[in-house]
Amino acid sequence: MGEIKDAKELEKIQLEGLKWTVNHAYKNSLFYKRQFDKAGVKPEDIKGLEDLSRLPFTEAHHLRDDYPFPLLSVPEEKVVRIHSSSGTTGKRKILSYTKKDIEDWTSFFARAFKMAGIGPKDRVQIAVGYGLWTAGAGFQAGCERVGAMAIPVGPGNLELQCQFLIDLKPTCICCTSSMALLLGEEIKRRGLKDKISIRTVIQGSERCSDSMRRAILDHLGAEHLYDITGLTELYGPGPGIDCHLHKGIHYWADYYILEILDPETLEPVKDGEIGEMVITTLRKEASPLIRYRTRDLTRKISGPCPCGSIFPRHDRILGRSDDMIIIRGVNVYPGQIDEILSEIEGISSEYNIILERRDARDYMVIKVERDSARDPSYDEEIQAGIEKQIKNQIMVSAEVQIVDYGALPRSERKSKRIFDNR
Ligand code: ZN
Repeated sequence: MGEIKDAKELEKIQLEGLKWTVNHAYKNSLFYKRQFDKAGVKPEDIKGLEDLSRLPFTEAHHLRDDYPFPLLSVPEEKVVRIHSSSGTTGKRKILSYTKKDIEDWTSFFARAFKMAGIGPKDRVQIAVGYGLWTAGAGFQAGCERVGAMAIPVGPGNLELQCQFLIDLKPTCICCTSSMALLLGEEIKRRGLKDKISIRTVIQGSERCSDSMRRAILDHLGAEHLYDITGLTELYGPGPGIDCHLHKGIHYWADYYILEILDPETLEPVKDGEIGEMVITTLRKEASPLIRYRTRDLTRKISGPCPCGSIFPRHDRILGRSDDMIIIRGVNVYPGQIDEILSEIEGISSEYNIILERRDARDYMVIKVERDSARDPSYDEEIQAGIEKQIKNQIMVSAEVQIVDYGALPRSERKSKRIFDNR
C-alpha cells in the first residue's frame, strides 16, 4: 500500500477495516458472535465510524476465559505463530498470528524505525526479551525490514551490552527505560561514553519521567530518545512512536482505531483529557480486537504535528487505570507524581511511593533519591518543595523522604515504584 494522502483517506481505510473486522469476527469467532448477539448488534449495523460505539467491549478476562486460543477467528491451520504475555493473575494471555498478521506487524514496525530515522547504515542493539514475549521478535523483524543491522543481545547481561557497545559501535539501542538508565549509569561509572556511538535510544513499555530521559541521554551521549508503544494483544511493540520533534506519539491509525474513554463511565473523555485507551483493530486476522480495554491511560493530542505526518498523536502512556491510587478520596495517577518530580532540581530520577494506613487514615510516603552531585544539607529544603508541589497540584498530602543516591532498587525490566501496604 502506498502513502496515505490525507485524513479523509485515512477515515476511508478505517471504515473499510472496521466493517471487515466486524464481519470477520462475527462469522469466524464464537466468542465475538456471542458478544455481539448479547449486545443485540449485527455486522450490517456498522455503517459509519460513529457506529463503533454500538459494539461491545472486550476485556483482558475474556482472553483468560477463552484460553488457550482466545479470540481466534481463523482456522487453526492458518496460525503460524503464537506469542504470550504473563497475565497478572493466573493464566497467560496467548495471542495467535497468521502469516499476514506477521507481515502487517513487520511493515508497521519498519515504519516506526523509519520515523526514528533508522535505516541501512544503522546498527541496532536489541536489548529486549526474545521468545514467547513479543518484543524481541517485533524489533528484530522491523529492524531487518528497514535494512539495518540487528544485534540481538536480549535483555540484561550488562557486561556483554557494554562490550558490544564498544566493539560493534551500534548507533541505536532498543530497551526498556529502566534498562537504558541502568546501562547509562554503567557507561558513566566505567567512563565509556567516548568509546560508544549510540545516537538513538528507542525505549518501550514503561513510563519514564523527563528527568530519567535527560539522565539516559546524557549518560549515553545520545541525541534522541524515542518512545515506542506496544501491547501483546495489539501484535506487540511498534504500533506507535514519537517523531524527531518528540511532541507526542504518532500512532498507526490505518491499523487500529483508538478511543480514549473514561474508565468508570466508558464514555469518551473531552478532547485532551486523560482516559483509557480502547482499541479496535482494522486488519488483524487471527486474534482481532474489538473495543479492547487496554487499561493504559493517555490523552489525545489534537491538531497536526509540525513534522507533517498525517498520523494522529496521543501522549505518552501516563500509567494504567489499575495503577490509579485512591488516597483520601482523591484519584492519583503515578504519572502525575513523575511529572512533578521531573521539575525538581537536586534529585535523581528514582523514587518509590509507599501507601500506609495509620490510625485508620491513609498516608502517602514518597522516597526520592538525592542527586549524586548534591549535598545532603539541602535535603530539608528539597523535601518541603516537593511536598508543597504535590499538595498544590494533586491536592493530597505526601510525606517526602530524601534518601542517598543509589539507595532505591534498580531493575533491568520494569521498576516497581508503588508499594501499597494498606
Ligand atoms: Zn510529528
